[in-house]
Amino acid sequence: MSLKIQTKKVAAVAANLSTSSLMNMNSIETVTTTMKPCWSCKGPVGLSALFCSTCSAVQGPARVTHFERLGVEYSFDVDVSALDQLYFDLQRQLHPDRFANCTPKEKALSQQQATALNDAYEILKDPLRRADYMVHVQGIDVLPEGCNLVQDQSILIEAMEMRERLETVEALADLNVIAKESKAAIEKVIGQLSTVFRDDDVEAACKLTTRLKYLHKMMGEVRHVRARLMS
Ligand SMILES: [Zn+2]
Repeated sequence: MSLKIQTKKVAAVAANLSTSSLMNMNSIETVTTTMKPCWSCKGPVGLSALFCSTCSAVQGPARVTHFERLGVEYSFDVDVSALDQLYFDLQRQLHPDRFANCTPKEKALSQQQATALNDAYEILKDPLRRADYMVHVQGIDVLPEGCNLVQDQSILIEAMEMRERLETVEALADLNVIAKESKAAIEKVIGQLSTVFRDDDVEAACKLTTRLKYLHKMMGEVRHVRARLMS
């Protein structure tokens, strides 16, 4: 499934959709690709729209990608501060105070929508979770079980060596060196992920995501070892 092609194809259709705040802040490509009927007035509503443009009824979360839900372009290179802005703007529109006088159904829908937005935000703002999600979304046909499927020998060896170093480290200064190296490796992998996602190389992205998972795990273990050395 190529979302890029899908979104480009529907750009013309999307241009005719109701203008939500999302549309003003982002390119046409990011707007929902199809319409659904409003549960209240049955009028057409964009899949990612929070409210019906006809009757203003709050809408429940539709099955869209996390990118579509938040109204950002489908890309690994997410501008996190722009994402923050979009997310908080959307959540403000769903604040429970605004639904104090609404029906139980509208209250429930607004809460479901808020939860879905929160899930999407938590995944997209974190490079590892974002990469994992994108590999999953793009690789449905290629790699049904996601990144854990990759048995890359070099990744396993690196992880084993790292673990050995962590098990034998005794001085805080040495641990700091390991931490610094891991941090640098994480930054490097994130840079590489950006490139391979731009090239639509899902397999390479899958390997890099697996490596990033290991590196994150290592950073967690570094924290444990630090606590042990300092106690
Ligand atoms: Zn409506």
